[in-house]
Amino acid sequence: MSADVNDGSVTALETFLARFRDSVRSVTGSRIDLEQMSLRRGVPPFALREMLSTDPLSVFIPAEHGGPGFPASAGLAAMEVAAYEHLPLSLLLAINGLLFLQPVARYARPEVQGPIFQRFLRDRHLAGLMLTEPGHGSDVLNMQTGYTVNADGSYHLTGTKHWAGLTGWADLWLLTARRRDADGTPTGAPDFFICDANRPGQRVVVEEYFENLGLYMIPYGRNRIDVVVPPENRLERETSGMRMLLDMLHRSRLHFSGMAAGFVRRILDEALEHCRERHVGGASLLSYDQVKHRVARLEAAVTACNAMCLHASRTAGVEHDLSRDGLLPNSIKTVCTDMMQESAQSLLQLVGAKGYRLDHFAGRAVVDSRPYQIFEGSNDILYEQIGESTISKMTRAGERNLLRYLGTNPATARAADRFHGVLDVDLAIDIAQRKAVALGGVVSRVVVMELTIALGERGFRGDLIDTCLHVLREDVEQRMAIYRVAGHPLPAEDYGTSGWLSLTRPARKA
Ligand SMILES: Cc1cc2nc3c(=O)[nH]c(=O)nc-3n(C[C@H](O)[C@H](O)[C@H](O)COP(=O)(O)OP(=O)(O)OC[C@H]3O[C@@H](n4cnc5c(N)ncnc54)[C@H](O)[C@@H]3O)c2cc1C
Repeated sequence: MSADVNDGSVTALETFLARFRDSVRSVTGSRIDLEQMSLRRGVPPFALREMLSTDPLSVFIPAEHGGPGFPASAGLAAMEVAAYEHLPLSLLLAINGLLFLQPVARYARPEVQGPIFQRFLRDRHLAGLMLTEPGHGSDVLNMQTGYTVNADGSYHLTGTKHWAGLTGWADLWLLTARRRDADGTPTGAPDFFICDANRPGQRVVVEEYFENLGLYMIPYGRNRIDVVVPPENRLERETSGMRMLLDMLHRSRLHFSGMAAGFVRRILDEALEHCRERHVGGASLLSYDQVKHRVARLEAAVTACNAMCLHASRTAGVEHDLSRDGLLPNSIKTVCTDMMQESAQSLLQLVGAKGYRLDHFAGRAVVDSRPYQIFEGSNDILYEQIGESTISKMTRAGERNLLRYLGTNPATARAADRFHGVLDVDLAIDIAQRKAVALGGVVSRVVVMELTIALGERGFRGDLIDTCLHVLREDVEQRMAIYRVAGHPLPAEDYGTSGWLSLTRPARKA
Protein backbone atom coordinates (compact mmCIF):
# COMPACT_ATOMS: atom_id res chain seq x y z
CA MET A 1 0.00 0.00 0.00
CA SER A 2 1.31 3.47 -0.84
CA ALA A 3 3.16 5.24 1.94
CA ASP A 4 2.14 8.55 0.35
CA VAL A 5 -1.43 8.43 1.57
CA ASN A 6 -2.28 9.88 4.98
CA ASP A 7 -2.23 7.71 8.10
CA GLY A 8 -5.98 7.94 8.72
CA SER A 9 -6.92 6.44 5.37
CA VAL A 10 -4.27 3.72 5.75
CA THR A 11 -5.70 2.74 9.14
CA ALA A 12 -9.25 2.67 7.76
CA LEU A 13 -8.08 0.55 4.83
CA GLU A 14 -6.26 -1.86 7.14
CA THR A 15 -9.43 -2.28 9.23
CA PHE A 16 -11.44 -2.87 6.05
CA LEU A 17 -8.92 -5.48 4.84
CA ALA A 18 -8.90 -7.24 8.21
CA ARG A 19 -12.69 -7.56 8.08
CA PHE A 20 -12.49 -8.90 4.54
CA ARG A 21 -9.83 -11.44 5.60
CA ASP A 22 -11.99 -12.53 8.54
CA SER A 23 -15.01 -13.04 6.31
CA VAL A 24 -13.01 -15.28 3.95
CA ARG A 25 -11.50 -17.20 6.87
CA SER A 26 -14.91 -17.71 8.40
CA VAL A 27 -15.80 -19.65 5.25
CA THR A 28 -12.54 -21.61 5.43
CA GLY A 29 -12.82 -22.38 9.09
CA SER A 30 -16.45 -23.26 9.59
CA ARG A 31 -19.03 -24.45 7.12
CA ILE A 32 -16.78 -25.51 4.34
CA ASP A 33 -13.11 -26.16 4.01
CA LEU A 34 -11.53 -23.92 1.40
CA GLU A 35 -9.21 -26.64 0.14
CA GLN A 36 -12.27 -28.81 -0.46
CA MET A 37 -13.96 -25.84 -2.09
CA SER A 38 -11.13 -25.60 -4.56
CA LEU A 39 -11.99 -29.11 -5.72
CA ARG A 40 -15.59 -28.31 -6.60
CA ARG A 41 -16.66 -26.34 -9.60
CA GLY A 42 -18.30 -23.05 -8.77
CA VAL A 43 -18.84 -21.99 -5.19
CA PRO A 44 -21.79 -22.58 -2.83
CA PRO A 45 -23.93 -19.40 -2.79
CA PHE A 46 -23.63 -18.99 1.00
CA ALA A 47 -19.83 -19.14 0.75
CA LEU A 48 -19.71 -16.48 -1.96
CA ARG A 49 -22.18 -14.31 -0.01
CA GLU A 50 -20.01 -14.58 3.09
CA MET A 51 -16.75 -13.84 1.28
CA LEU A 52 -18.25 -10.76 -0.38
CA SER A 53 -20.16 -9.66 2.74
CA THR A 54 -17.67 -6.89 3.49
CA ASP A 55 -18.00 -5.49 -0.05
CA PRO A 56 -14.38 -5.95 -1.21
CA LEU A 57 -15.40 -4.84 -4.72
CA SER A 58 -16.43 -1.44 -3.38
CA VAL A 59 -12.75 -0.41 -3.39
CA PHE A 60 -13.01 -0.17 -7.19
CA ILE A 61 -15.99 2.22 -6.99
CA PRO A 62 -15.28 5.97 -6.92
CA ALA A 63 -16.14 7.78 -3.67
CA GLU A 64 -18.67 10.02 -5.45
CA HIS A 65 -20.64 6.90 -6.35
CA GLY A 66 -20.62 5.41 -2.85
CA GLY A 67 -17.17 3.75 -2.78
CA PRO A 68 -15.29 3.90 0.55
CA GLY A 69 -12.87 6.57 -0.74
CA PHE A 70 -9.68 4.63 -0.03
CA PRO A 71 -6.50 5.40 -1.97
CA ALA A 72 -6.07 3.81 -5.40
CA SER A 73 -3.87 1.14 -3.82
CA ALA A 74 -6.89 -0.38 -2.04
CA GLY A 75 -7.69 -2.62 -5.01
CA LEU A 76 -4.17 -4.01 -4.99
CA ALA A 77 -4.31 -4.61 -1.26
CA ALA A 78 -7.72 -6.33 -1.43
CA MET A 79 -6.47 -8.66 -4.17
CA GLU A 80 -3.36 -9.41 -2.10
CA VAL A 81 -5.50 -10.42 0.90
CA ALA A 82 -7.75 -12.56 -1.29
CA ALA A 83 -4.86 -14.26 -3.12
CA TYR A 84 -3.27 -15.29 0.17
CA GLU A 85 -6.47 -17.00 1.25
CA HIS A 86 -7.66 -18.40 -2.09
CA LEU A 87 -6.19 -17.45 -5.49
CA PRO A 88 -9.45 -17.91 -7.48
CA LEU A 89 -11.19 -15.45 -5.15
CA SER A 90 -8.55 -12.90 -5.98
CA LEU A 91 -9.13 -13.52 -9.69
CA LEU A 92 -12.85 -12.99 -9.12
CA LEU A 93 -12.03 -9.56 -7.65
CA ALA A 94 -9.71 -8.84 -10.57
CA ILE A 95 -12.29 -9.78 -13.19
CA ASN A 96 -14.88 -7.50 -11.62
CA GLY A 97 -12.59 -4.70 -10.51
CA LEU A 98 -9.96 -4.46 -13.22
CA LEU A 99 -11.85 -5.70 -16.26
CA PHE A 100 -15.21 -4.07 -15.56
CA LEU A 101 -15.49 -1.51 -12.73
CA GLN A 102 -12.31 0.42 -13.49
CA PRO A 103 -13.03 0.69 -17.25
CA VAL A 104 -16.57 1.82 -16.38
CA ALA A 105 -15.20 4.38 -13.89
CA ARG A 106 -12.84 5.76 -16.52
CA TYR A 107 -14.81 5.54 -19.75
CA ALA A 108 -18.56 5.10 -19.20
CA ARG A 109 -20.99 8.00 -19.45
CA PRO A 110 -21.86 9.52 -16.04
CA GLU A 111 -25.56 8.63 -16.37
CA VAL A 112 -24.63 4.97 -16.86
CA GLN A 113 -22.01 4.81 -14.11
CA GLY A 114 -24.27 5.66 -11.14
CA PRO A 115 -26.85 2.88 -11.58
CA ILE A 116 -24.14 0.29 -12.30
CA PHE A 117 -22.12 1.13 -9.23
CA GLN A 118 -25.31 1.07 -7.15
CA ARG A 119 -26.05 -2.44 -8.34
CA PHE A 120 -22.63 -3.59 -7.13
CA LEU A 121 -23.03 -1.91 -3.75
CA ARG A 122 -26.70 -2.74 -3.20
CA ASP A 123 -27.20 -6.07 -4.94
CA ARG A 124 -23.62 -7.41 -5.06
CA HIS A 125 -23.84 -7.95 -8.79
CA LEU A 126 -20.95 -9.53 -10.70
CA ALA A 127 -19.41 -8.61 -14.06
CA GLY A 128 -16.72 -9.63 -16.52
CA LEU A 129 -15.00 -8.84 -19.81
CA MET A 130 -15.40 -10.69 -23.11
CA LEU A 131 -12.47 -10.12 -25.43
CA THR A 132 -11.33 -13.57 -26.53
CA GLU A 133 -12.85 -15.53 -29.41
CA PRO A 134 -12.22 -19.09 -30.56
CA GLY A 135 -10.19 -17.87 -33.57
CA HIS A 136 -8.75 -14.74 -31.96
CA GLY A 137 -6.99 -14.87 -28.61
CA SER A 138 -3.52 -13.34 -28.82
CA ASP A 139 -4.64 -11.96 -32.18
CA VAL A 140 -7.46 -10.11 -30.42
CA LEU A 141 -7.33 -7.03 -32.64
CA ASN A 142 -8.72 -9.11 -35.50
CA MET A 143 -11.74 -10.24 -33.47
CA GLN A 144 -14.75 -11.15 -35.59
CA THR A 145 -17.52 -10.06 -33.24
CA GLY A 146 -19.03 -7.08 -35.00
CA TYR A 147 -21.66 -4.42 -34.48
CA THR A 148 -24.01 -2.36 -36.58
CA VAL A 149 -25.82 0.79 -35.55
CA ASN A 150 -29.63 0.66 -35.60
CA ALA A 151 -31.83 3.57 -36.71
CA ASP A 152 -32.52 4.48 -33.04
CA GLY A 153 -28.77 4.66 -32.30
CA SER A 154 -28.66 1.33 -30.41
CA TYR A 155 -25.92 -1.18 -31.22
CA HIS A 156 -26.49 -4.71 -32.48
CA LEU A 157 -23.58 -7.01 -31.57
CA THR A 158 -23.13 -10.51 -32.99
CA GLY A 159 -20.34 -13.05 -32.61
CA THR A 160 -18.86 -15.77 -30.39
CA LYS A 161 -16.73 -15.23 -27.27
CA HIS A 162 -15.07 -17.82 -25.07
CA TRP A 163 -13.01 -18.10 -21.88
CA ALA A 164 -14.58 -15.05 -20.25
CA GLY A 165 -14.28 -15.41 -16.48
CA LEU A 166 -17.71 -15.75 -14.74
CA THR A 167 -19.41 -17.13 -17.83
CA GLY A 168 -23.08 -17.74 -17.00
CA TRP A 169 -22.77 -15.95 -13.64
CA ALA A 170 -22.12 -12.32 -14.48
CA ASP A 171 -25.02 -9.89 -14.45
CA LEU A 172 -23.09 -7.36 -16.52
CA TRP A 173 -20.56 -7.77 -19.29
CA LEU A 174 -18.13 -5.54 -21.05
CA LEU A 175 -18.41 -6.81 -24.62
CA THR A 176 -15.91 -5.99 -27.32
CA ALA A 177 -16.77 -5.77 -31.01
CA ARG A 178 -15.63 -4.01 -34.18
CA ARG A 179 -17.85 -1.92 -36.43
CA ARG A 180 -19.09 -3.84 -39.45
CA ASP A 181 -18.45 -2.16 -42.79
CA ALA A 182 -20.94 -2.14 -45.68
CA ASP A 183 -20.06 -5.81 -46.46
CA GLY A 184 -20.59 -6.83 -42.85
CA THR A 185 -16.86 -7.33 -42.20
CA PRO A 186 -15.62 -6.11 -38.80
CA THR A 187 -13.04 -3.33 -39.25
CA GLY A 188 -10.90 -1.02 -37.14
CA ALA A 189 -10.10 -1.26 -33.43
CA PRO A 190 -12.51 -2.86 -30.96
CA ASP A 191 -15.15 -0.80 -29.18
CA PHE A 192 -16.51 -1.61 -25.71
CA PHE A 193 -20.18 -2.00 -24.78
CA ILE A 194 -21.83 -2.58 -21.43
CA CYS A 195 -24.30 -5.43 -21.72
CA ASP A 196 -26.88 -5.98 -19.00
CA ALA A 197 -27.50 -9.70 -19.21
CA ASN A 198 -30.70 -9.40 -17.13
CA ARG A 199 -32.39 -7.08 -19.63
CA PRO A 200 -34.47 -8.24 -22.62
CA GLY A 201 -32.46 -8.38 -25.82
CA GLN A 202 -29.15 -8.40 -23.91
CA ARG A 203 -28.98 -12.01 -22.77
CA VAL A 204 -25.68 -13.75 -23.55
CA VAL A 205 -26.28 -17.40 -24.40
CA VAL A 206 -23.86 -19.93 -22.90
CA GLU A 207 -23.41 -22.65 -25.53
CA GLU A 208 -20.94 -24.74 -23.54
CA TYR A 209 -19.30 -24.74 -20.11
CA PHE A 210 -15.63 -25.70 -20.09
CA GLU A 211 -13.98 -28.21 -17.77
CA ASN A 212 -11.21 -25.77 -16.84
CA LEU A 213 -8.09 -27.44 -15.46
CA GLY A 214 -7.96 -25.28 -12.33
CA LEU A 215 -9.52 -22.14 -10.83
CA TYR A 216 -12.62 -24.26 -10.25
CA MET A 217 -14.40 -21.45 -8.47
CA ILE A 218 -14.69 -19.49 -11.73
CA PRO A 219 -16.91 -20.72 -14.57
CA TYR A 220 -15.66 -20.47 -18.16
CA GLY A 221 -17.30 -21.40 -21.45
CA ARG A 222 -18.31 -20.42 -24.96
CA ASN A 223 -20.93 -17.71 -25.44
CA ARG A 224 -23.10 -16.69 -28.36
CA ILE A 225 -23.52 -12.94 -28.66
CA ASP A 226 -26.61 -11.56 -30.36
CA VAL A 227 -27.60 -8.54 -28.29
CA VAL A 228 -28.86 -4.99 -28.76
CA VAL A 229 -27.55 -2.42 -26.29
CA PRO A 230 -28.66 1.23 -25.95
CA PRO A 231 -26.43 4.02 -27.34
CA GLU A 232 -25.28 5.23 -23.91
CA ASN A 233 -23.83 1.78 -23.11
CA ARG A 234 -20.91 2.25 -25.45
CA LEU A 235 -17.74 3.34 -23.62
CA GLU A 236 -16.50 6.69 -24.82
CA ARG A 237 -13.15 6.72 -26.54
CA GLU A 238 -10.84 9.53 -25.49
CA THR A 239 -8.65 8.92 -28.50
CA SER A 240 -8.60 5.59 -30.30
CA GLY A 241 -10.13 2.23 -29.37
CA MET A 242 -6.60 0.85 -29.42
CA ARG A 243 -5.44 3.38 -26.80
CA MET A 244 -8.45 2.55 -24.63
CA LEU A 245 -7.67 -1.18 -24.81
CA LEU A 246 -4.01 -0.63 -23.97
CA ASP A 247 -4.89 1.68 -21.08
CA MET A 248 -7.19 -1.00 -19.58
CA LEU A 249 -4.76 -3.86 -20.11
CA HIS A 250 -1.78 -1.92 -18.73
CA ARG A 251 -3.73 -0.93 -15.59
CA SER A 252 -4.82 -4.51 -15.10
CA ARG A 253 -1.29 -5.86 -15.63
CA LEU A 254 0.09 -3.48 -12.98
CA HIS A 255 -2.51 -4.85 -10.56
CA PHE A 256 -1.33 -8.44 -11.15
CA SER A 257 1.37 -7.60 -8.60
CA GLY A 258 -1.30 -7.55 -5.86
CA MET A 259 -2.51 -11.06 -6.68
CA ALA A 260 1.07 -12.31 -7.01
CA ALA A 261 2.12 -10.74 -3.69
CA GLY A 262 -0.59 -12.54 -1.71
CA PHE A 263 -0.12 -15.82 -3.55
CA VAL A 264 3.67 -16.10 -3.24
CA ARG A 265 3.56 -15.07 0.43
CA ARG A 266 1.14 -17.95 1.08
CA ILE A 267 3.46 -20.29 -0.84
CA LEU A 268 6.40 -19.11 1.27
CA ASP A 269 4.47 -19.63 4.52
CA GLU A 270 3.41 -23.12 3.42
CA ALA A 271 6.99 -23.98 2.38
CA LEU A 272 8.50 -22.76 5.66
CA GLU A 273 5.98 -24.64 7.76
CA HIS A 274 6.49 -27.83 5.78
CA CYS A 275 10.29 -27.64 5.68
CA ARG A 276 10.55 -26.95 9.42
CA GLU A 277 8.32 -29.89 10.30
CA ARG A 278 9.42 -32.49 7.76
CA HIS A 279 12.49 -34.50 8.76
CA VAL A 280 14.39 -36.51 6.14
CA GLY A 281 17.52 -38.49 7.02
CA GLY A 282 17.22 -37.32 10.62
CA ALA A 283 17.39 -33.63 9.75
CA SER A 284 14.82 -30.95 9.15
CA LEU A 285 14.38 -30.26 5.44
CA LEU A 286 15.27 -26.67 6.12
CA SER A 287 18.81 -27.71 7.07
CA TYR A 288 19.59 -28.82 3.49
CA ASP A 289 21.33 -26.31 1.27
CA GLN A 290 19.23 -26.97 -1.85
CA VAL A 291 16.08 -26.49 0.25
CA LYS A 292 17.48 -23.20 1.56
CA HIS A 293 18.12 -22.20 -2.05
CA ARG A 294 14.48 -22.84 -2.93
CA VAL A 295 13.17 -21.00 0.12
CA ALA A 296 15.48 -18.05 -0.55
CA ARG A 297 14.02 -17.83 -4.06
CA LEU A 298 10.52 -17.86 -2.59
CA GLU A 299 11.48 -15.04 -0.22
CA ALA A 300 12.94 -13.13 -3.16
CA ALA A 301 9.66 -13.52 -5.03
CA VAL A 302 7.75 -12.09 -2.06
CA THR A 303 10.11 -9.10 -1.89
CA ALA A 304 9.95 -8.50 -5.65
CA CYS A 305 6.15 -8.61 -5.59
CA ASN A 306 6.15 -6.04 -2.77
CA ALA A 307 8.36 -3.82 -4.92
CA MET A 308 5.98 -4.19 -7.86
CA CYS A 309 2.97 -3.42 -5.63
CA LEU A 310 4.62 -0.27 -4.29
CA HIS A 311 5.14 0.92 -7.85
CA ALA A 312 1.59 -0.03 -8.91
CA SER A 313 0.14 1.75 -5.87
CA ARG A 314 1.48 5.03 -7.24
CA THR A 315 0.81 4.57 -10.92
CA ALA A 316 -2.20 2.34 -11.54
CA GLY A 317 -5.07 4.62 -10.46
CA VAL A 318 -7.90 5.28 -12.95
CA GLU A 319 -6.88 8.93 -13.13
CA HIS A 320 -3.74 7.99 -15.10
CA ASP A 321 -3.63 7.37 -18.85
CA LEU A 322 -1.51 4.21 -19.07
CA SER A 323 -1.91 3.60 -22.79
CA ARG A 324 1.44 4.94 -23.92
CA ASP A 325 4.13 3.08 -22.06
CA GLY A 326 3.96 -0.69 -21.70
CA LEU A 327 7.43 -1.29 -20.21
CA LEU A 328 6.46 -1.27 -16.53
CA PRO A 329 3.03 -2.96 -16.84
CA ASN A 330 4.36 -5.65 -19.17
CA SER A 331 7.49 -6.26 -17.08
CA ILE A 332 5.43 -6.53 -13.91
CA LYS A 333 2.85 -8.88 -15.47
CA THR A 334 5.42 -11.26 -16.94
CA VAL A 335 7.84 -11.36 -14.02
CA CYS A 336 5.24 -11.68 -11.27
CA THR A 337 3.29 -14.41 -13.07
CA ASP A 338 6.50 -16.34 -13.80
CA MET A 339 7.29 -16.02 -10.09
CA MET A 340 3.83 -17.33 -9.16
CA GLN A 341 4.26 -20.44 -11.28
CA GLU A 342 7.89 -21.05 -10.29
CA SER A 343 7.02 -20.65 -6.61
CA ALA A 344 4.12 -23.09 -6.86
CA GLN A 345 6.31 -25.64 -8.68
CA SER A 346 8.99 -25.22 -6.04
CA LEU A 347 6.52 -25.77 -3.19
CA LEU A 348 5.28 -28.96 -4.85
CA GLN A 349 8.86 -30.19 -5.16
CA LEU A 350 9.51 -29.48 -1.47
CA VAL A 351 6.30 -31.10 -0.27
CA GLY A 352 6.95 -34.23 -2.33
CA ALA A 353 4.31 -36.86 -3.09
CA LYS A 354 1.82 -35.49 -0.58
CA GLY A 355 1.68 -32.29 -2.62
CA TYR A 356 0.57 -34.28 -5.67
CA ARG A 357 -2.77 -35.17 -4.10
CA LEU A 358 -5.61 -33.42 -5.86
CA ASP A 359 -6.75 -31.90 -2.57
CA HIS A 360 -3.33 -30.57 -1.48
CA PHE A 361 -2.62 -26.87 -1.63
CA ALA A 362 0.68 -27.31 -3.52
CA GLY A 363 -0.79 -29.16 -6.50
CA ARG A 364 -3.77 -26.80 -6.71
CA ALA A 365 -1.37 -23.86 -6.60
CA VAL A 366 0.54 -25.17 -9.63
CA VAL A 367 -2.61 -25.60 -11.67
CA ASP A 368 -4.36 -22.42 -10.50
CA SER A 369 -1.37 -20.14 -11.16
CA ARG A 370 -0.48 -21.55 -14.58
CA PRO A 371 -2.98 -19.60 -16.70
CA TYR A 372 -1.69 -16.30 -15.35
CA GLN A 373 1.20 -16.78 -17.79
CA ILE A 374 -1.33 -17.15 -20.62
CA PHE A 375 -4.15 -14.64 -20.10
CA GLU A 376 -4.02 -10.86 -20.47
CA GLY A 377 -1.08 -11.17 -22.83
CA SER A 378 0.77 -14.45 -23.24
CA ASN A 379 4.15 -14.06 -21.50
CA ASP A 380 6.01 -15.24 -24.61
CA ILE A 381 4.45 -12.43 -26.61
CA LEU A 382 4.91 -9.78 -23.92
CA TYR A 383 8.59 -10.70 -23.51
CA GLU A 384 9.03 -10.41 -27.26
CA GLN A 385 7.37 -6.97 -27.20
CA ILE A 386 9.64 -5.79 -24.39
CA GLY A 387 12.71 -7.06 -26.27
CA GLU A 388 11.67 -5.54 -29.61
CA SER A 389 10.70 -2.21 -28.12
CA THR A 390 14.05 -2.04 -26.28
CA ILE A 391 15.84 -2.51 -29.58
CA SER A 392 13.72 0.07 -31.38
CA LYS A 393 14.18 2.64 -28.58
CA MET A 394 17.93 2.01 -28.66
CA THR A 395 17.96 2.45 -32.42
CA ARG A 396 16.09 5.76 -32.12
CA ALA A 397 18.57 6.89 -29.45
CA GLY A 398 21.52 5.88 -31.68
CA GLU A 399 22.73 3.45 -28.99
CA ARG A 400 23.72 -0.17 -29.65
CA ASN A 401 25.19 -1.06 -26.27
CA LEU A 402 22.59 -2.60 -23.93
CA LEU A 403 24.35 -1.68 -20.68
CA ARG A 404 24.79 1.96 -21.70
CA TYR A 405 21.16 2.18 -22.81
CA LEU A 406 19.77 0.63 -19.62
CA GLY A 407 22.10 2.89 -17.63
CA THR A 408 20.43 5.98 -19.10
CA ASN A 409 16.83 4.78 -18.73
CA PRO A 410 15.30 5.85 -15.38
CA ALA A 411 13.35 2.55 -15.26
CA THR A 412 16.59 0.53 -15.14
CA ALA A 413 19.54 2.86 -14.45
CA ARG A 414 20.60 1.93 -10.92
CA ALA A 415 19.95 -1.77 -11.41
CA ALA A 416 21.98 -1.80 -14.64
CA ASP A 417 24.86 -0.26 -12.75
CA ARG A 418 25.20 -3.55 -10.84
CA PHE A 419 26.00 -5.57 -13.96
CA HIS A 420 28.76 -4.32 -16.24
CA GLY A 421 30.23 -7.38 -18.03
CA VAL A 422 27.04 -9.40 -18.43
CA LEU A 423 24.97 -6.70 -20.09
CA ASP A 424 27.85 -5.01 -21.87
CA VAL A 425 26.88 -6.26 -25.33
CA ASP A 426 26.11 -4.57 -28.63
CA LEU A 427 22.69 -5.68 -29.85
CA ALA A 428 21.89 -6.50 -33.45
CA ILE A 429 18.88 -4.61 -34.83
CA ASP A 430 17.37 -7.63 -36.51
CA ILE A 431 17.20 -10.60 -34.16
CA ALA A 432 15.31 -13.90 -34.13
CA GLN A 433 12.05 -13.86 -32.17
CA ARG A 434 13.46 -16.23 -29.55
CA LYS A 435 16.32 -13.78 -28.92
CA ALA A 436 13.83 -10.94 -28.52
CA VAL A 437 11.97 -13.08 -25.96
CA ALA A 438 15.21 -13.75 -24.05
CA LEU A 439 16.09 -10.05 -24.18
CA GLY A 440 12.60 -9.15 -22.92
CA GLY A 441 13.15 -11.55 -20.02
CA VAL A 442 16.42 -9.76 -19.21
CA VAL A 443 15.06 -6.22 -19.44
CA SER A 444 11.90 -6.98 -17.43
CA ARG A 445 13.99 -8.40 -14.58
CA VAL A 446 16.32 -5.40 -14.59
CA VAL A 447 13.16 -3.24 -14.33
CA VAL A 448 12.01 -5.28 -11.31
CA MET A 449 15.48 -4.95 -9.77
CA GLU A 450 15.12 -1.18 -10.08
CA LEU A 451 11.75 -1.34 -8.30
CA THR A 452 13.37 -3.50 -5.61
CA ILE A 453 16.08 -0.91 -5.05
CA ALA A 454 13.33 1.72 -4.66
CA LEU A 455 11.53 -0.56 -2.17
CA GLY A 456 14.73 -0.76 -0.12
CA GLU A 457 15.02 3.02 -0.11
CA ARG A 458 11.52 3.24 1.38
CA GLY A 459 12.69 1.18 4.35
CA PHE A 460 11.99 -2.47 3.42
CA ARG A 461 14.28 -4.92 5.26
CA GLY A 462 17.79 -4.68 3.80
CA ASP A 463 18.67 -8.39 3.99
CA LEU A 464 15.52 -9.29 2.06
CA ILE A 465 16.31 -6.66 -0.56
CA ASP A 466 19.84 -8.08 -0.95
CA THR A 467 18.54 -11.65 -1.41
CA CYS A 468 15.99 -10.48 -3.97
CA LEU A 469 18.56 -8.52 -5.98
CA HIS A 470 20.89 -11.52 -5.93
CA VAL A 471 18.19 -13.88 -7.21
CA LEU A 472 17.06 -11.48 -9.94
CA ARG A 473 20.66 -11.02 -10.97
CA GLU A 474 21.05 -14.80 -11.35
CA ASP A 475 17.93 -14.86 -13.54
CA VAL A 476 19.20 -12.01 -15.70
CA GLU A 477 22.52 -13.79 -16.22
CA GLN A 478 20.77 -17.04 -17.21
CA ARG A 479 18.56 -15.29 -19.74
CA MET A 480 21.48 -13.30 -21.08
CA ALA A 481 23.30 -16.61 -21.67
CA ILE A 482 20.33 -17.73 -23.79
CA TYR A 483 20.46 -14.45 -25.67
CA ARG A 484 24.17 -14.80 -26.35
CA VAL A 485 24.31 -18.45 -27.42
CA ALA A 486 24.98 -18.73 -31.12
CA GLY A 487 22.64 -20.43 -33.60
CA HIS A 488 18.98 -21.25 -33.30
CA PRO A 489 17.89 -24.82 -33.99
CA LEU A 490 14.71 -25.17 -36.04
CA PRO A 491 12.18 -27.97 -35.64
CA ALA A 492 12.36 -30.73 -38.25
CA GLU A 493 8.56 -31.15 -38.02
CA ASP A 494 8.60 -34.27 -40.27
CA TYR A 495 10.44 -36.17 -37.55
CA GLY A 496 8.58 -39.27 -38.70
CA THR A 497 9.49 -42.62 -37.14
CA SER A 498 12.95 -41.70 -35.86
CA GLY A 499 13.52 -43.73 -32.70
CA TRP A 500 16.15 -45.58 -30.78
CA LEU A 501 14.70 -49.11 -31.08
CA SER A 502 15.60 -49.63 -34.72
CA LEU A 503 19.15 -48.59 -33.84
CA THR A 504 19.55 -51.59 -31.50
CA ARG A 505 19.78 -53.96 -34.52
CA PRO A 506 23.34 -55.16 -35.11
CA ALA A 507 25.04 -52.97 -37.68
CA ARG A 508 25.28 -54.61 -41.12
CA LYS A 509 28.74 -55.38 -42.30
CA ALA A 510 29.65 -53.44 -45.40
C1 LIG B 1 -8.07 -19.28 -17.02
C2 LIG B 1 -8.28 -18.33 -18.14
C3 LIG B 1 -9.00 -17.16 -17.91
C4 LIG B 1 -9.29 -16.28 -18.96
N1 LIG B 1 -10.07 -15.17 -18.72
C5 LIG B 1 -10.47 -14.41 -19.77
C6 LIG B 1 -11.43 -13.36 -19.60
O1 LIG B 1 -11.92 -13.11 -18.48
N2 LIG B 1 -11.85 -12.66 -20.69
C7 LIG B 1 -11.35 -12.92 -21.94
O2 LIG B 1 -11.75 -12.25 -22.90
N3 LIG B 1 -10.42 -13.90 -22.13
C8 LIG B 1 -9.98 -14.66 -21.09
N4 LIG B 1 -9.08 -15.68 -21.28
C9 LIG B 1 -8.56 -15.92 -22.61
C10 LIG B 1 -7.09 -15.50 -22.72
O3 LIG B 1 -6.98 -14.10 -22.69
C11 LIG B 1 -6.53 -16.12 -24.01
O4 LIG B 1 -6.42 -17.50 -23.74
C12 LIG B 1 -5.19 -15.55 -24.39
O5 LIG B 1 -5.36 -14.27 -24.92
C13 LIG B 1 -4.47 -16.42 -25.43
O6 LIG B 1 -5.31 -16.66 -26.51
P1 LIG B 1 -5.52 -18.16 -27.05
O7 LIG B 1 -5.87 -19.01 -25.90
O8 LIG B 1 -6.44 -18.11 -28.21
O9 LIG B 1 -4.07 -18.65 -27.51
P2 LIG B 1 -3.32 -18.33 -28.88
O10 LIG B 1 -3.56 -16.95 -29.32
O11 LIG B 1 -3.59 -19.44 -29.84
O12 LIG B 1 -1.82 -18.43 -28.36
C14 LIG B 1 -1.33 -19.64 -27.75
C15 LIG B 1 0.17 -19.53 -27.60
O13 LIG B 1 0.76 -19.44 -28.87
C16 LIG B 1 1.94 -18.67 -28.80
N5 LIG B 1 1.81 -17.50 -29.67
C17 LIG B 1 0.67 -16.90 -30.09
N6 LIG B 1 0.96 -15.86 -30.91
C18 LIG B 1 2.30 -15.81 -31.00
C19 LIG B 1 3.22 -14.95 -31.68
N7 LIG B 1 2.81 -13.89 -32.39
N8 LIG B 1 4.53 -15.19 -31.53
C20 LIG B 1 4.98 -16.22 -30.79
N9 LIG B 1 4.17 -17.06 -30.11
C21 LIG B 1 2.85 -16.85 -30.21
C22 LIG B 1 2.09 -18.23 -27.33
O14 LIG B 1 2.89 -19.15 -26.64
C23 LIG B 1 0.67 -18.32 -26.83
O15 LIG B 1 0.60 -18.52 -25.43
C24 LIG B 1 -8.77 -16.56 -20.25
C25 LIG B 1 -8.00 -17.70 -20.46
C26 LIG B 1 -7.76 -18.58 -19.43
C27 LIG B 1 -6.94 -19.82 -19.68
